Amino acid sequence: MQEKPDARSAARIAKFVKPLRVKPGSTVDLAEDFDPRFKAGMRKREGVELLRTGVSLLAEYQARLAAQDSEAVLLCLQALDAGGKDGTIRHVMSGVNPQGVHVSSFKVPSAEELDHDYLWRYARRLPARGEIGIFNRSHYEEVLVVRVHPENLDRQKLPEEAKGPDVWDRRYREINDWERHLCDNGFKVVKIFLNLSKEEQRIRFLKRIDVPEKNWKFSAADIRERERWDDYQRAFSGMLSATSTPWAPWYVVPADRKWFARICAAAVLAHALMTIDPQYPAVDARARKDLLAARRRLEGEAPGGAARDPYAARHRTDRRPRAERARRTGPGRARRTDPGS
Ligand code: AMP
Ligand code: MG
Repeated sequence: MQEKPDARSAARIAKFVKPLRVKPGSTVDLAEDFDPRFKAGMRKREGVELLRTGVSLLAEYQARLAAQDSEAVLLCLQALDAGGKDGTIRHVMSGVNPQGVHVSSFKVPSAEELDHDYLWRYARRLPARGEIGIFNRSHYEEVLVVRVHPENLDRQKLPEEAKGPDVWDRRYREINDWERHLCDNGFKVVKIFLNLSKEEQRIRFLKRIDVPEKNWKFSAADIRERERWDDYQRAFSGMLSATSTPWAPWYVVPADRKWFARICAAAVLAHALMTIDPQYPAVDARARKDLLAARRRLEGEAPGGAARDPYAARHRTDRRPRAERARRTGPGRARRTDPGS
């Protein structure tokens, strides 16, 4: 039997993302285990081509996800400053229908947000069925910046017993449980950590200072955060070890080369969508009968001299149902003749 192109690309993509996945239950030492400069032996030119393919693949899957309207994807992006979150979103999502995607960025929590439990503001931004939601920073800030700067925890107005030394382990567990609940109910959680080296961050900060159009991106606070580099690496390692689960594993994407990071992110997202494998809803016999009746009616309204069905005339559409068409032509052989092209 002829293999569907989908199955072939799905297998290729699965192989490509596997080394990026954090094995559930493993203990991660970021510096030891993941190289920010890794590029799988790929050249930039190949990479650009591959990204283009990936982007159109995502567009196709996103359209199917929306049409199916029963499952959703939540993509969580985490990185240190200058890790490339914004550029990754811009490039990876460049081909998809903006109506099917929602990006939410999370900053320092507002007074209203601090008046609720720490997951509240993230829950409010979850995608609806059929959508792709992107979290630019996510609930993982609650075990990253909040852990590195415990004064953030003080601002969260927690009762004394909820602030004990076990607070981080508890949050890991709560986050895992929350994601499992989402996953069990049709919301697939996809988590990407853009892994930047300290030297590449230094270079990107300098670029933000040197190029006037990039000045707005730089903040003095970024330099202060950089001083806490080692604390962040420890917090990331802890997070990756504790929250890479079978239902929502982490992917560590090498981020020193932007073009490679974007390919990886597109591949991870495509892999998730291919696992869902959303389908256009099939029309049942009754609905099909209604369609045919509607067509007869519209054909009857053709003004004098006009074709009864100009679309079918132009495209010589095969008017038989899809299953019947496939039986006679055989898979992969159905050809559309378009006299206009
Ligand atoms: P940026 O994404 O560069 O605009 O910065 C957003 C800032 O908000 C970063 O410095 C984050 O660390 C900070 N931030 C995000 N989430 C939280 C949180 N839950 N608690 C405290 N700070 C946060
Ligand atoms: Mg920033």
